[in-house]
Amino acid sequence: MATAIFAARLMPTRSVVVLDGAGKLGAKILISGGGRCNITNCVVTPADFFGGSPNAIKRVLAALPVARTVAFFREIGVELHEEEHGKLFPKTNQARTVLEAMIGEASRLGVRILLKHRVTSVRRDAVGFHIATDAATLSAGNVVLATGGRSLPKTGSDGSGYRLAESLGHTLVPLTPALVALVLDGVFHVPLSGISHDVELTVEATGWKPVRVCGVMLWTHFGVSGPATLDLSRHWHRARLEQRKVEVFANLVGGMDTTAIEGQLFAIASAQPRIQLCSALAQLIPSRLAGAILAELKVSGTTPMAHLPKDFRRKVVKALVRWHLPVRDSRGYKYAEVTAGGVPFVEVNSRTLGSRKCPGLYLPGEILDVDGRIGGFNFQWAWASAWVVATAMARPAKPDPPATE
Ligand SMILES: Cc1cc2nc3c(=O)[nH]c(=O)nc-3n(C[C@H](O)[C@H](O)[C@H](O)COP(=O)(O)OP(=O)(O)OC[C@H]3O[C@@H](n4cnc5c(N)ncnc54)[C@H](O)[C@@H]3O)c2cc1C
Repeated sequence: MATAIFAARLMPTRSVVVLDGAGKLGAKILISGGGRCNITNCVVTPADFFGGSPNAIKRVLAALPVARTVAFFREIGVELHEEEHGKLFPKTNQARTVLEAMIGEASRLGVRILLKHRVTSVRRDAVGFHIATDAATLSAGNVVLATGGRSLPKTGSDGSGYRLAESLGHTLVPLTPALVALVLDGVFHVPLSGISHDVELTVEATGWKPVRVCGVMLWTHFGVSGPATLDLSRHWHRARLEQRKVEVFANLVGGMDTTAIEGQLFAIASAQPRIQLCSALAQLIPSRLAGAILAELKVSGTTPMAHLPKDFRRKVVKALVRWHLPVRDSRGYKYAEVTAGGVPFVEVNSRTLGSRKCPGLYLPGEILDVDGRIGGFNFQWAWASAWVVATAMARPAKPDPPATE
């Protein structure tokens, strides 16, 4: 949709048609950000993204800086406001505002939107592109394959776009879910369902530097969710994809190290010498979690802090700093917010996102091998890559620079 709007603005004399297999447009916009649509973030850098080539990502992000995204949404009537961690939402706090403004702008520009037109094949010959949908066939001079990833297939992005890309000569960096909750073995997590707190999560995979993520983790009936878990999930999946042995550990005190936790416990014990261990721990982590950890460690929570043997204290502190999360799997594409992997950047020109395999074809959005962390980064990628594609189509064609550039 963004590519169609930008293309119609830049090339008012060309006919722009959006084909969507879904019965309604923008399902992901409507459910995004808990129904409020986290449109972008105040600060977006290549470090907020994974996959692909950092240089190509940098170039695309630079083409449409956040300020221009904000200005674009203002132009179409969507004012934004900032929330914690720089997240930008529509002032109405309703994703529908964003979708309706985009549909309104597309219609003002004369973009034809054909719903329930699922693209089943795209063929290119000397004349141009021939597109077959389950409702009609069309011809076009350029094709933009903005079919998203595989996550939440019921929204329409079911991965069929990857097959279309392959049929036009592209390969794929293997796909995995990303920004997805993790399923844990055992039952430790079950009674903790609903508790959320600050953690530092670490993925340790053989041959990799540990990957750390800080933020809020939510315990659930199936395992763990919340922003920190979602951000971590892609690393767990990529390690598994590469057949590495992988473990996940949680620092349950928001990343505080052993010395700092020991210091806090000493301070609590000296201020309240008769305080029991579980009450002391409840000053550092949620009390239900403190009780569950002590039960798991077989350490009595009623022991007064002043009488707590040193080795028990050490055992508890070690558990807080490095709690093993027995990750069995993630909740998969059905629940994932994005898909990692996709069409490799070496197969597109990073200045245009035009295909090097099929001239006239463009690939913006999640179909490429790039995934952002939580916080509005994936949509910023969608807007910026759409802008790159639209401006490229509006420029007279130049030969591609070499792939190594
Ligand atoms: C629950 C959830 C919440 C999210 N929240 C946020 C958020 O708040 N902020 C953020 O930045 N990101 C968020 N994301 C991620 C963001 O929605 C995606 O990264 C973004 O929508 C990708 O844009 P896209 O245009 O590449 O693909 P999509 O938005 O997935 O759009 C692809 C479109 O192509 C259509 N399509 C696919 N295949 C075919 C075909 N063969 N023929 C015809 N049409 C086809 C689909 O119907 C769909 O309309 C969220 C994702 C989910 C699932």
